[in-house]
Amino acid sequence: MGIKYSKTSGDNNNRNSNRRKKYDPILLVCVILFAVFVVYNVILMINSGTKQGDSHAFKAGNGIEPIYDDSDSELLPEGYKTVKMTFDDLSAGDLVLIGLDNYYSRDVSDSLVGMYDCMTEYNSSKNAVQCYSVSDSSVIIRPEVCSAMNDLLVNFYKKTNISNINITSGYRSFSLQQSLFDREIAEKTEEEAIHWVAKPGYSEHHSGYAVDINIIDDSGVAIEYTGDGEYKYLNDSAPDYGFVVRYQDKKKNITGIYYEPWHFRYVGLPHSKIMQEKDLCFEEYIDYLKDFSANGEHLKYKHKNKTYEIYYCKGYNVYVPENLNYSISGNNKDGFIVTVDY
Ligand SMILES: [Zn+2]
Repeated sequence: MGIKYSKTSGDNNNRNSNRRKKYDPILLVCVILFAVFVVYNVILMINSGTKQGDSHAFKAGNGIEPIYDDSDSELLPEGYKTVKMTFDDLSAGDLVLIGLDNYYSRDVSDSLVGMYDCMTEYNSSKNAVQCYSVSDSSVIIRPEVCSAMNDLLVNFYKKTNISNINITSGYRSFSLQQSLFDREIAEKTEEEAIHWVAKPGYSEHHSGYAVDINIIDDSGVAIEYTGDGEYKYLNDSAPDYGFVVRYQDKKKNITGIYYEPWHFRYVGLPHSKIMQEKDLCFEEYIDYLKDFSANGEHLKYKHKNKTYEIYYCKGYNVYVPENLNYSISGNNKDGFIVTVDY
């Protein structure tokens, strides 16, 4: 070993350094240990750098860049407390805005129920009546939307005796939306198609808050729902149950979507009533609420013996009253909307 080493060293260095070469194995071991130590630490640093980079990339890749702004956090109103929200919370709640410019990344498929499960009959003096139909058992939706839609359609029957409304669509997965979009771009350019059928990730149907309907005529054929004539009452009364006709013809320049009288979106009370009375589409309403902050004036609305106060909190610091009922919804954009009731 020593000889071999000495020979090799001699080949590379000067021949008169034999005495020093006797200690080279120890030196070599030290050098190797030091090198291993350095390499180990370099690997550790690289790994830690990669993890930070990945985590940042994951957030940025989620579709929405929230604006974090706590500049007004020192102005907490008296009787209020701060609730810290997260990026994930931005896409939770019945006021999440989803549309051409608002991507929705949440998977809600675990929290849905079948539309059939909510169906109740109307017991008239003569017999029990089925007030509407559901196209098949694959129509699933959020429980609160399911029950509100049932109430709306049972009331519609009671007022009009019309029972041929058919629910065709509720929640849609990204892959189902992709197949609908693919079908649309077989006939149109992609630029044109997005105004008729949303691209995957941009459809309200992913959230479980949207419902589509059609009409089954006397011969059992499904026809398009237009909301005209005797059906106008359904559109007009939808806000009493938390729904709005989301894509109106007169608002297509704002929503970017052509008229869809059959597409109902659940936004909850009293928001649906305020949108109806002020003639605001969802995009306009979300902007309008930014005029009302926790520290400033709140939007007040009375409905059925209840008073509501609504305001907007920018960023992740949300201010809520310490002693009143409230709900918080992300707007899927840049902040949260608080709805207080008493
Ligand atoms: Zn729809």
